[in-house]
Amino acid sequence: MISPIARSDDPGPVTAVRITVLLADRDASRCAACGQSADAAEVAPVPRQCSRLGQVERSSAAGWLLLCGTATTGCRGRVADEPGWARQNGLTVAADRDPAEVPVWHAVHGLVWLDADGGVYPVPDSAGPGRRDAR
Ligand SMILES: [Zn+2]
Repeated sequence: MISPIARSDDPGPVTAVRITVLLADRDASRCAACGQSADAAEVAPVPRQCSRLGQVERSSAAGWLLLCGTATTGCRGRVADEPGWARQNGLTVAADRDPAEVPVWHAVHGLVWLDADGGVYPVPDSAGPGRRDAR
């Protein structure tokens, strides 16, 4: 089962429900970084941008990924511990970039662009960065 969005990332009750439903469908309820199922691990929607954004930005599914673990464990913990790795793989997005324009190496979909409504668009091999998986 998918855990609720962290209080610190709260996009408001209506948006939170919409994002959780969109992500469960888009990502098959799996962690975007390692592919682990929400049936087997704690998986929750996590924003790709850590800056304080307005409700409008928070309502875009492009700005969210399902990640396993907590702030200190699993893939969510790794994103916090290894910001360079997270940024290279598109798991996080710089505050001045649009998440819809930054491809992500997704465990379920491969290298893709995400859109605001849960759409997934494969990036042609030549257009994206190589996957960086080394620790
Ligand atoms: Zn994971």
